[in-house]
Amino acid sequence: MASSHSAAESNVFTLRARYVFPVAGPPLAGGHVTIAGERIAAVGATTREAPVHDLGNVAILPGLVNAHTHLEFSDLDSPLGSPGQGFAQWISQVTASRGRSTQVAATGAEPGTAPPQLSAPTSPVVRGLAESLAAGVTTVGEIAVTGWSPAPFAQAGIDATVFRELICLSPARIPEALAIAREHLAATASLGFQAGVSPHAPYTVHPELFAQVVALAAAHDAPVAFHLAESPDELELLRSSTGPFHDYLAARGFWVPGAIPLGTRPLNYLRQLAQVARGLVVHGNLLDEEEQAYVAEQRARLSVVYCPRTHAYFGHPRHPLQQLLERGAHVALGTDSRASNPDLDLLAEMRFVASHFPQLGGEAIVRLGTLSGAEALGVEKSCGSLVTGKLANLAIIALPESAADDPHDLLLGASRRCVATYLRGRIVAGALPV
Ligand SMILES: [Zn+2]
Repeated sequence: MASSHSAAESNVFTLRARYVFPVAGPPLAGGHVTIAGERIAAVGATTREAPVHDLGNVAILPGLVNAHTHLEFSDLDSPLGSPGQGFAQWISQVTASRGRSTQVAATGAEPGTAPPQLSAPTSPVVRGLAESLAAGVTTVGEIAVTGWSPAPFAQAGIDATVFRELICLSPARIPEALAIAREHLAATASLGFQAGVSPHAPYTVHPELFAQVVALAAAHDAPVAFHLAESPDELELLRSSTGPFHDYLAARGFWVPGAIPLGTRPLNYLRQLAQVARGLVVHGNLLDEEEQAYVAEQRARLSVVYCPRTHAYFGHPRHPLQQLLERGAHVALGTDSRASNPDLDLLAEMRFVASHFPQLGGEAIVRLGTLSGAEALGVEKSCGSLVTGKLANLAIIALPESAADDPHDLLLGASRRCVATYLRGRIVAGALPV
């Protein structure tokens, strides 16, 4: 962070709101949050601290956690393709839109792909970071590709876990892909954010590379994000080496016959992914009952990252969110990218869950978008809830004038929006209500 520590630490103030949602405990009516420098100094129902800024009819939440996104697509005004189309078809449009067709090749290095100009003020990543902060998102699980730059993340100051994407179906190029992963993980300490790796998905990663990357991440205690059980096309490829993904890959010369053993299931990957301390099962739309039970059994290590509006965009069958939670599985929320979502608004994802899974209740839904996301990424010691000592990352959400028996209903009703975002004790987006 660029801010002066000494100046920040001398800065002590209290925010009061109609409701404070600590997530670590029940909502506090007329609650307060006291901030000292970059951290939370106190959370409660009363305060003797001064000065007190009464924010009025707002909610104070922990900064929201978007556990899965690809900010490189943040310049898209609307999702690619059309709602409900086949997933393999959408993937081909994504690669075409970015000139990334070489990337969904048998390579981890994407030779010939020009690095995106990530440091330009209008770069998609810069736009995506600004949009995230404006939406109250202070922690992201970002998938980074060739040419990614830490500069925009450092400038934004956002808490990022940066997963290096690996795409490689060719056995011959596995060492090259592993070298990329190793280099990325080694850079962690100097870059100031958590580094992870993301073997992209079963249809773009050779099983041997997946096994080796998981072992590498386990040795580095690094998180792993893996798109899994997202579409019927994917399951068909795993089961029988046929279908739209096979045809897509074969037509481009990327398919490696026999690379994926016939009869492979998502469970085969889950068992390996559970070797790492934090494994993110991105989507998990089609996990069967045995796989749901396994994810629940491994809840300390595995999290399903449900991307509600992206899931809806593809018209997939209903997500097993409720079954997963009932089984005790750990679930977080993500937006995925603007290639399949209209925006990066995590509160809108929570609102979507509230309207489509009302039986879950507001408390559980707010947890999904905050503390559960932090736990999925392994950063829950510093963020995800309003607890003394954690970073002062806050989302300030405007509330309606109406009353509600459950204050969560005020928060998750239609058209609520973030009006200001605090990151490490400073306002970085929006403005306080006067
Ligand atoms: Zn994704």
